[in-house]
Amino acid sequence: MRRISLKTWLATSSAVLAAFVVGIIAVATFVVVTDGMNRLADDASRSLAASARNQVRAAVVSAEAKAKAEDAPQTAGRERFRAAFLSELPVLLAAIAPPGSEFALYDADLDLLWDSGEAGVVEDLAGARAQALRSDKVTESHPHRRLTAGLFADADLGTHVVHSPVDLPGSERMVLDVVYFARREEAVIDEVRAPMLVISSLALLLAVAASQLSIGRLLRRVDSLRKTADSIGSGQLDVKLPVLGDDEIGDLAASINRLIEQLRRRSETQARFVADASHELATPVAGIRGYINILRVWGADDPDIRAESIEAIDRESQRMSRLCNDLLLLIRGGEGLVYRHERLDVNALGRDALIGAAVRYPEKRLELMGPGDGQLPMIGDPGHIGDVISVLVDNAAKYTPVGGRVTLRTARRRGLIEIEVSDNGPGIPPEELDSIFDRFYRRDSSRSKETGGFGLGLAIAKSLVEGMGGTISVTSRMGQGSTFTVRVSRGRP
Ligand code: ADP
Repeated sequence: MRRISLKTWLATSSAVLAAFVVGIIAVATFVVVTDGMNRLADDASRSLAASARNQVRAAVVSAEAKAKAEDAPQTAGRERFRAAFLSELPVLLAAIAPPGSEFALYDADLDLLWDSGEAGVVEDLAGARAQALRSDKVTESHPHRRLTAGLFADADLGTHVVHSPVDLPGSERMVLDVVYFARREEAVIDEVRAPMLVISSLALLLAVAASQLSIGRLLRRVDSLRKTADSIGSGQLDVKLPVLGDDEIGDLAASINRLIEQLRRRSETQARFVADASHELATPVAGIRGYINILRVWGADDPDIRAESIEAIDRESQRMSRLCNDLLLLIRGGEGLVYRHERLDVNALGRDALIGAAVRYPEKRLELMGPGDGQLPMIGDPGHIGDVISVLVDNAAKYTPVGGRVTLRTARRRGLIEIEVSDNGPGIPPEELDSIFDRFYRRDSSRSKETGGFGLGLAIAKSLVEGMGGTISVTSRMGQGSTFTVRVSRGRP
């Protein structure tokens, strides 16, 4: 299927909508105007009929007077009255007839007695006349009325006919039709039509132009977002979208900016991580190559140099292997690392870590205080929790000077297990407390080969603890020591 662009779609649908709305308003206005004019024509025909009935009464009085004056026998008198009435009525009606109105008089058999003009004789209304006679009430007819005609052609309000029963002396009955042609009202509708069509067309043009303008503006902004997204795709992360306007597109631009910023920071961290990792790996590799060269040159002849070189290569390769393990742990810590849920004893893991530190740093003669014999059960991953405790205990032992003290405390606090490792070592300056959890962060003083760290221990511990949904924090006072606290969920042991 052919792709329809958003612009075409929006432009077409908004134009159709505008035409629809303007059309509805125009037709509604026209209907209101036509209905009003039609009511006016109804009122005009009714009031004309009321005046005509007065004239009928006047004609009756005048005809009676004439008939009496001639003093004829009764039947002849009735004939004379009728003749006088029929000659008087046209004159009286002509006096009140506005232009565009006609009259017609019918006898009790609905035969035409008199009309003021041909147009006054409207066919097919015998039923309405009979009804007026039968009910003795005024009835109305509206033949040929087409209320919608005036929208595109001349208005046609049809004919307004009022049938009034007429009672004459001597029980003679007649029907007077007042026929009103709503020419004036139709003229008003015709006058309104042209300006209304012009105003509607202008409104339509304006609505379409306004909607096209705003659609164009909207799509230009969307297009600028697309272009930025494309440039991000091609690796350009120093772009920033202009956040124009406090609206949904502005919000979208701000969200994309935040996303770009996050991507930029992540890519910087990644680049730094790769650079740091290669740098850390380069050092032992350079050492190994150096000793291999020494072995090549002197190794065959000098057993001492050979032994020393092999010893050094072994040391460097162990360091490389430790670094690779740390890197793997760190990379997998964020994603894909499996966290087992097993029953474990935190105190036992703590004791193991303290024993490990005692074995690694015998020369320091540290006072290592642990959680004693008791158990502290929880549900978690023994490997990862053991790693976290080992990093903290190892750091405490590593950075605390000879004869110092390392204390491991464990406790249960509601649904949490708290593990606290403190030492009375040199402490960490307050401004570095946040950074020590960053990858490859080592304080200058601990950069010496003596401590042998890569600056990855705390980053790994933090990543593991956070992977378990826990927290790790540190407090420290220079010259007095540091305390690292880990809080993780106890699970349901
Ligand atoms: P590493 O110990 O391998 O250098 P870590 O990530 O474990 O890396 O620690 C980062 C830095 O934090 C260390 O270089 C050290 O300066 C500081 N640090 C960590 N633990 C302690 C501690 N107990 N006492 C003093 N400084 C510490």
